[in-house]
Amino acid sequence: MTEVRDYSNLIGGELRPAADGRTLDSVNPATGEVWATIPRSGATDAAAAVEAARAAFPRWSGMPAAGRAHYLRKVAEVFAANAKELAELETIDNGRLITETAKRDLPGMTYLWTNAAAECAAAVEGRSVDFGPGSQGLTRREPYGVVLGIIPWNSPISTLSAKAAFALAAGNTVIIKPAEQATVSSLRVGELLREVLPPGVLNIVSGLGEEIADPMVRSRGVDKVSLTGSVGTAQIITRASAESLKPLALELGGKSPNIVFADADLDRAAPGVTTQAIFTANAGQICYGGSRILIQRPVYDEMISRMTEIAAGIRLGDTLSPDTTMGPIVSAEQYERVTAYLEIGAKEGAELVFGGRSGAELVDEAHAGGYWVEPTLFATSDNSLRVCQEEIFGPVAVAIPFDTEEEAVALANDSVYGLAAGVWTRDLGTAQRMFRRLDTGTVWVNTYRKVMFPLEGTKDSGYGNDSVLAYTREKAGLFEF
Ligand code: NAD
Repeated sequence: MTEVRDYSNLIGGELRPAADGRTLDSVNPATGEVWATIPRSGATDAAAAVEAARAAFPRWSGMPAAGRAHYLRKVAEVFAANAKELAELETIDNGRLITETAKRDLPGMTYLWTNAAAECAAAVEGRSVDFGPGSQGLTRREPYGVVLGIIPWNSPISTLSAKAAFALAAGNTVIIKPAEQATVSSLRVGELLREVLPPGVLNIVSGLGEEIADPMVRSRGVDKVSLTGSVGTAQIITRASAESLKPLALELGGKSPNIVFADADLDRAAPGVTTQAIFTANAGQICYGGSRILIQRPVYDEMISRMTEIAAGIRLGDTLSPDTTMGPIVSAEQYERVTAYLEIGAKEGAELVFGGRSGAELVDEAHAGGYWVEPTLFATSDNSLRVCQEEIFGPVAVAIPFDTEEEAVALANDSVYGLAAGVWTRDLGTAQRMFRRLDTGTVWVNTYRKVMFPLEGTKDSGYGNDSVLAYTREKAGLFEF
């Protein structure tokens, strides 16, 4: 049994427990053991965080862009210097494999914060329009004020950083509310940044969404809310923010199609759709997971056979071992949800191609208390099934055959979601037509899950993104002399 450590909120430059002292347990999803406690914050803590962020705003927003850039470069250095520890905490906290957190996530954070530092100047660039002699139009970009970033559990450090870095670069002060299932890495970031950023510029408060985030969403002291999370939470936040007409950014779920044409290079497409896009990609717990695999009929059987072989080699177990290739489901609640879909798929009549098992039988004794589901592939030609339409957010995908490009487009767009899509083809014409016709925010061609631009969805995948411009608004002036 590991020693249980207590973590605190960061409010106004101080590390504080919840005002009423309440805590929540944090569970390692690979073992089921409690390994840390986090504050279960409430309305008093929400008010304190808003007050601290408001107090810090005039000085932070009034600072020259180069001053903010200096601070953000120091943050990047902190991430680089503490990458090993943060990667391990993130792995223990939410089950992302150490191979992901140490090799992909943390190096990416140093780049992200450095990039945000470089964008500080662009964040305050305005436009100048000449309306004729003696009449000049000017715009200036201004921060919103206090930004509340509400983040999910599946990738806390990356999501915290994407929101905080760009919002801070633009001159806002920030409050981050991590997800209760995986909070520790965010609170540790708060400890590390406490003396790096001026007090109140970045605040991190933990607890349940309805107890700590909701009062801040309603507060007139918060000027913009950026949520990365589920559609249900987005709807609650939209209603809660209505009274103060707050600007929102909603980065939500997906049921992304990954489309393999008959002319594709199957040596790339088979691992691409099986590992890069879904199963070993955080056990399918990624918003843009390619969970609907559309395969053109001439290569359907060949693809299924290759995917089955690749999936058979996926190893579950110790998340801190470099030999493990797939981790657990994040929590008992999410495990119940994902395993329910194993039954739903079978009851709906989808054919089980591989997988379908869950629980302790998949791992060694040391990990028997964790939340394990094996890579599972259903097959059907009926895209209306629940396993084809609903976001499962686990290692469960569905294969769907198609004949023509027209049919692929129709199937791909037949979803309430529009986050991302993958296209595998050797034909540039096919790739370009698909890029235009797919109703999603991102299209990857012959690759998947490489995020180079801010993610933004269509339809129920939400709107808004995490970029420096998205955290500013443009003020217009007309000067006549
Ligand atoms: P969730 O919606 O349950 O929780 C997200 C956050 O909202 C958490 O911090 C939670 O505490 C908070 N919250 C819950 N109720 C609230 C309320 N009443 N008021 C204010 N805040 C509240 O999502 P999750 O289960 O943590 O994450 C999984 C979801 O996130 C999936 O749908 C996934 O697709 C989505 N996601 C999207 C992206 C993207 O960039 N589009 C990235 C990662 C995850």
